[in-house]
Amino acid sequence: MFQTSPHHIASYYAASSLELQVQRPALRERLDVDVAVVGAGYTGLYTALRLAQAGKSVALLVASRVGWGASGRNGGQVILGFSCDMPPFAAALGDEGAQTVWRLTCEAAQEIRQRIAQHQIDCDYSPGHLWTAVLKRRVQILLDWQEEAAQTWGYEGLRFISKEDLPAHVASERYQGGLLDPSGGHLHPLRYALGLARAAEAAGVRIFENTRAERYVEHPDGIELQCAHGGVRAAQLVLACGAMVDKLDTRLRSRILPVGTYMIATAPLAPERARALLPSGCAVSDNQFVLDYFRLSGDHRLLFGGKCSYTGRTPANLTEGMRQDMLKVFAQLVDVPIDYTWGGHIDITMARTPDFGRSGPVYWAQGYSGHGVVPTCVAGRVLAEAILGDDSHLQLFARLRNPPFPGGETLGGLFQVLGMSYYRLRDYF
Ligand SMILES: Cc1cc2nc3c(=O)[nH]c(=O)nc-3n(C[C@H](O)[C@H](O)[C@H](O)COP(=O)(O)OP(=O)(O)OC[C@H]3O[C@@H](n4cnc5c(N)ncnc54)[C@H](O)[C@@H]3O)c2cc1C
Repeated sequence: MFQTSPHHIASYYAASSLELQVQRPALRERLDVDVAVVGAGYTGLYTALRLAQAGKSVALLVASRVGWGASGRNGGQVILGFSCDMPPFAAALGDEGAQTVWRLTCEAAQEIRQRIAQHQIDCDYSPGHLWTAVLKRRVQILLDWQEEAAQTWGYEGLRFISKEDLPAHVASERYQGGLLDPSGGHLHPLRYALGLARAAEAAGVRIFENTRAERYVEHPDGIELQCAHGGVRAAQLVLACGAMVDKLDTRLRSRILPVGTYMIATAPLAPERARALLPSGCAVSDNQFVLDYFRLSGDHRLLFGGKCSYTGRTPANLTEGMRQDMLKVFAQLVDVPIDYTWGGHIDITMARTPDFGRSGPVYWAQGYSGHGVVPTCVAGRVLAEAILGDDSHLQLFARLRNPPFPGGETLGGLFQVLGMSYYRLRDYF
């Protein structure tokens, strides 16, 4: 079982989030509500917020603190689309269904900006996301996506950046080309989650921290959720547990593999030195199989993410390993100390397709496969709409097939390690 803690991990994000001082109580009573939501990452927060705004009574439970999971630890990169890209949607849902999925992700990226403004969330949102290619042969992938986005999905906003023009965006020789999306961007993920929690409470959601949902049982009129010192009866249950669903629902658990991924934050740089690294202020992700992603923080640090672990073990010498990865991109940072190192878990599915669905009164969204800032916003909308009576979008997502990992967590992890080794070699050569 995942170990949770009443405290946030020692990340740069936790150290720079004043709203963390707001503590919510643990559940110590029996509640009767319309909807119980488990998990206070983005998925649970968006769903709860939308339901409360539509007049539902909602209890939101989280085993630790709001934003303690991936939502409070991530790279903060706001990237349109899903981890699996569009072909699996087109294959499973047909052209019209895939068009709907693409439209939902564009609307979600817009919703994030609107919510930041509407709820006055101080999360350093900055526009611009740049995909880069480390390998010459992968420049074509960027060009192909630009063409597909425009011709198939009607998305004209992507701009190809040649190697000669890259220094206007990223001061590194490592990349052979880039694709800039002005509708993408980056934000402080924990402050964003805490701002969503504040908005959800203002709409009437009751949030209980340090409250693990231990089990649920279905009744003819809904579900009963059992916790250590209380419980919730509700007509509907939303499972928004990310990589940590564990024994609460073994069916959901069997379809995802928790994978560790890591970040470092440098000491603050002089503002002009920071700007010289990423002159246009965009966030960057490369298109290697094990990708590097980075951006500047509001206080002029470089936040650099990468690596992954399928074994459940944190890589040895993590800070130094991450620093070396960062120096491959920005050798000019050799004198800069690293102030923070942390990691979190992403919830990958076999085909990296999202796993949204419903079984009776139980609704869920998981399987973002490492790319969840925008997709969780899609999920919150799709789940809330379904609970409020329009399940057309949920039915669409539920048509994606997400089989269990063969051999469960242990063997599933092993297969992934073998698969990853193959893809790492392809990255290398
Ligand atoms: C290091 C890292 C970097 C990333 N970078 C990016 C990025 O740059 N861009 C991007 O798009 N995506 C990124 N991601 C992925 C993204 O953060 C996730 O996909 C997204 O945050 C998932 O949100 P969620 O709400 O589904 O899950 P989470 O945020 O993980 O929240 C789930 C919550 O459920 C709670 N929970 C679980 N079980 C129970 C229970 N039984 N009872 C009560 N509570 C429970 C957990 O405590 C947790 O707080 C990254 C992830 C990591 C870890």
